[in-house]
Amino acid sequence: MGEGTKAVAPPAGVARTVDLYGVADDSIVDGPGIRLAVFTQGCRHACCGCHNPDAQPFEGGTPTTIDELGEKVEANPLLSGITLTGGEPFEQAAALVELARRVREKGLDVWAYSGYRFEELLAGGPDGAAVPLLEQVDVLVDGRFVEPLKTLGLRWRGSSNQRLIDVPASLAAGQTVERGE
Ligand code: SF4
Repeated sequence: MGEGTKAVAPPAGVARTVDLYGVADDSIVDGPGIRLAVFTQGCRHACCGCHNPDAQPFEGGTPTTIDELGEKVEANPLLSGITLTGGEPFEQAAALVELARRVREKGLDVWAYSGYRFEELLAGGPDGAAVPLLEQVDVLVDGRFVEPLKTLGLRWRGSSNQRLIDVPASLAAGQTVERGE
């Protein structure tokens, strides 16, 4: 840092660290193209047949700064975007808003998976920051995984109750707008 340069502290109350289960640098299964998949630690949905049960406990994650994740995005010119998944990313929405904003500023897209329904997130979500995060999300895959509805024929989704939601169109229309695969 050069002389006279002042560090800019994040605004009060803005979380800069997320607890992660892990990261996939070059995922091709969490949305279109090559994606940085960010798996958050902690989920309270307890879906039967969960694809990632080790990500359910809220303890044991790896604290990771938003800057570290941003550097991963900067370092990979092949990325189409990032995918926020888990675990339940909306448990840590307040911290992820900043990452999603940076990604979109680069012209990349943001997908998010949530066990919550879109309408539940619009009501505030678990940490009260779901709406600001949704405002930085392009596509939301919503709803819990329901094992009896599991199907291999749906792209990007594990069970047929889950929806692919065009978030910007939904926010603009004031109603849920689903999109094709
Ligand atoms: S929402 Fe996802 S991570 Fe959470 S219990 Fe269900 S399948 Fe597992």
